[in-house]
Amino acid sequence: MAFEVRIFPNSKGKSLYATSHIPMGTLILEEDPIVYCQFSWNALCKYKACDNCLRPLETAEENVRRLMGNPLFELPYPDCCQTDKNNSTSCDLCGNEYCSENCKISAFNQYHKVLCLQSRERNNSHPIELLEEAWKNMHYPPETSSIFLIVRLLANIVQASNTDEAIQKVLSFCHKSVNEEAQLAHKFLGDKFIHQISLLREMVANILPNPQISQFLTPEGFQSLLALIGTNAQGVGSSPFSAWRQNVEKLNLSSKDREKINNIVDTIYDDMYAHTGDFLNSEGVALYLKQSCINHSCDPNAEIKFLHNNSRLFLVALKDIQPDEEILISYLGECEINRSRHSRRKLLMENYIFACECSKCLEEIDQLDVTSEEDMSTEEDN
Ligand SMILES: [Zn+2]
Ligand SMILES: [Zn+2]
Ligand SMILES: [Zn+2]
Repeated sequence: MAFEVRIFPNSKGKSLYATSHIPMGTLILEEDPIVYCQFSWNALCKYKACDNCLRPLETAEENVRRLMGNPLFELPYPDCCQTDKNNSTSCDLCGNEYCSENCKISAFNQYHKVLCLQSRERNNSHPIELLEEAWKNMHYPPETSSIFLIVRLLANIVQASNTDEAIQKVLSFCHKSVNEEAQLAHKFLGDKFIHQISLLREMVANILPNPQISQFLTPEGFQSLLALIGTNAQGVGSSPFSAWRQNVEKLNLSSKDREKINNIVDTIYDDMYAHTGDFLNSEGVALYLKQSCINHSCDPNAEIKFLHNNSRLFLVALKDIQPDEEILISYLGECEINRSRHSRRKLLMENYIFACECSKCLEEIDQLDVTSEEDMSTEEDN
């Protein structure tokens, strides 16, 4: 391994450092999440993906037919579709779908055993159904997080053979102060719903009334969990059509065939936007042990990718990284990262509660505290 996690006693906490030279383009690490869950509204839209790892469970053709609202559409180059439905399976008790026997067993052994909502229990008043409804009423699409990540995390502890070890794993994420946690919990739920924090806590406790997790179901413990999810949860998405398109791009086609397929792809996108709108992927949120140790820079030397069209995360070097150099990613989106120093730092403070002191922010320290033009309007809204 070309990196190590270093722990600092000050507020910086954990950091990832290179231990040897890492050339640009190198895959630094890959890892599966401790826990993943699909967004509630996303699941309702019938995006078919593995309940454990997000791998698509429909073919590229089925995917575009559904999103275009055209059940007869025929997608060319079917061999470019990556979806392998031969291995897909489902939970015998509740019908949750998985990409493989492996995912089904690992979900059951880690958290699904205590969360399996058997079909005979579905009556619109089961604690899981009640939380699902309450959460959907608080978070309309586009969804950015999910209370069910907390539920699965707690179920992991309940089912763990070594409870203390499982609790320590969760606590290793928490290194915010009480005040920062309160701000993050507020951000997680938003102004309108912050007073419902105790309702959510009771609903989660009704799903998992297990003594092993009582420390996380006190008002302070639950607020820590909300803060944990608020700062560490990573958005993930998958799309069988995107995977198909990438494979088509690699085909050796005549310029005439290339033009033809490009036109077909354009039409598919137009039709999908017209029928479904912007949200064309299966989407969810996940929690990663190593990735959560990586700090932010507005001029990062590494980036996160999802190369397998599922929740497995890859960290790739954007530049040459020297031994003893810290490995840094950007917590900001593609557009946000190009905003002014003032705007970037405001976003980071609001969403992650830290004042960015990265090399770019230090370099631009003389820049006036101006707000980028593109976010003037959003600031005025606030
Ligand atoms: Zn899977
Ligand atoms: Zn089940
Ligand atoms: Zn910065």
